[in-house]
Amino acid sequence: MRGPAVIFDLDDTLYPSNSFVAGGIRAVAVLLRDDGFTDPDPCDVLMEVLETEGPFSLFDSAFARLGVRRTPELVSRLVAAFRAHSPSISPYPGIVDLLCSLRNHGVGLGLVTDGYPQVQRSKWTALGLGHLFDAVVFCRDIDGGDHPKPDPFPFARAHHLLGEPDSVVFVGDNPSADFPAPDAFGWRTVRVCWPEATHILDGDTVINRPVARNAAELRAILSRILDFPS
Ligand SMILES: [Mg+2]
Repeated sequence: MRGPAVIFDLDDTLYPSNSFVAGGIRAVAVLLRDDGFTDPDPCDVLMEVLETEGPFSLFDSAFARLGVRRTPELVSRLVAAFRAHSPSISPYPGIVDLLCSLRNHGVGLGLVTDGYPQVQRSKWTALGLGHLFDAVVFCRDIDGGDHPKPDPFPFARAHHLLGEPDSVVFVGDNPSADFPAPDAFGWRTVRVCWPEATHILDGDTVINRPVARNAAELRAILSRILDFPS
């Protein structure tokens, strides 16, 4: 046994996922321009769709505005470019200091992240936080197996890799994906609601779950739970 430990989600918890999406859009726009779609500019259209409608119908809405005919070949080419682009992303303000403080107080750090494993790995490498973490679990590639959240298996795997600490806090942003397993395990949890995060308006079945809107609030909540100076 060892502990305590804090396990984090990645997207919209440690860094803003919109910054990754913006990079993917730039890569997609290059291909659309090469295909002759230059007026209006594909990057402007895609960014406007992202801001007004969110990421979920990005291509379909942008195709309509650009006059692009949707074909399976085109979509697979654009999706491949989106996923393969080199992320230009950074942690949220104050996150690196907080992670360092937690480590300095003997708190183990873990990551449980969902999504396409190659994409999640490229994000994780770009963020440069790996040296601070004791356990990193990619839900869609655990010994080759696919265990998307809210499957409890990746959470249990992170707990095991951290040496099965008695005291665990899970920090995430997506109520329906991030918290069912930690709640079932009896872990403490903190919801982060960073500005403009994808799930900021999602309902949560646990009404008294602590919520942090910035790194200072997250530090204060973790300090209280884990009893270290804020
Ligand atoms: Mg997330």
